[in-house]
Amino acid sequence: MAEGSWYDADIDRVIITEEQIREKTAELAKQVSADHADSTGGLLLVCVLKGAVMFMADFARALGRYGPPTEMEFMAVSSYGQGTTSSGVVRILKDLDRDIAGKHVIVVEDIVDSGLTLSWLLKYLESRSAASVEVVALFRKPDAVKVHVPVKYVGFEIPSEFVVGYGLDYSERYRELPYVGVLKKDVYARS
Ligand code: 5GP
Repeated sequence: MAEGSWYDADIDRVIITEEQIREKTAELAKQVSADHADSTGGLLLVCVLKGAVMFMADFARALGRYGPPTEMEFMAVSSYGQGTTSSGVVRILKDLDRDIAGKHVIVVEDIVDSGLTLSWLLKYLESRSAASVEVVALFRKPDAVKVHVPVKYVGFEIPSEFVVGYGLDYSERYRELPYVGVLKKDVYARS
């Protein structure tokens, strides 16, 4: 059977390859480990579902090779609905399962676009009395930042285009692509 995704044909161009993601994830993990070398209490990784699921899995494993011990929590929030622009209205679809008071939290984000989701999330985590809250985001679109949010670790700055793959979806599809790319225009016309 030929190797390749069902979805390859819908991709106009690849923005970041699988190899680039792998290398960058290791780099970010080394950086975070070095900065937290004395965090004996460990780090609490908070994954923002669903988009960050691939990055969380790869980043947590990479961190495990170098870093302090980690625990994982998952939150799901919604700010996009079915469309491709942030509404700014954030809904919690799945909350944290436990108390994070006194924990050193690292939010693991897929992409920061307007920054509205993250800005809301940081306030929320701080209101739950985390000892510290930092953010690692695999992608950031610098042109689109509407609110200033402190993102300590950024993987790639990408252009202000809607992208899919490596966890990022369009109407729940394309998440399983191992790379990140831009959809062909006719995909939107079809749906
Ligand atoms: P923001 O609130 O920063 O505008 O958007 C944050 C969330 O919107 C991200 O965590 C991600 O889930 C989604 N998002 C932002 N840009 C894109 C994109 O280009 N493609 C996809 N699939 N989702 C995006």
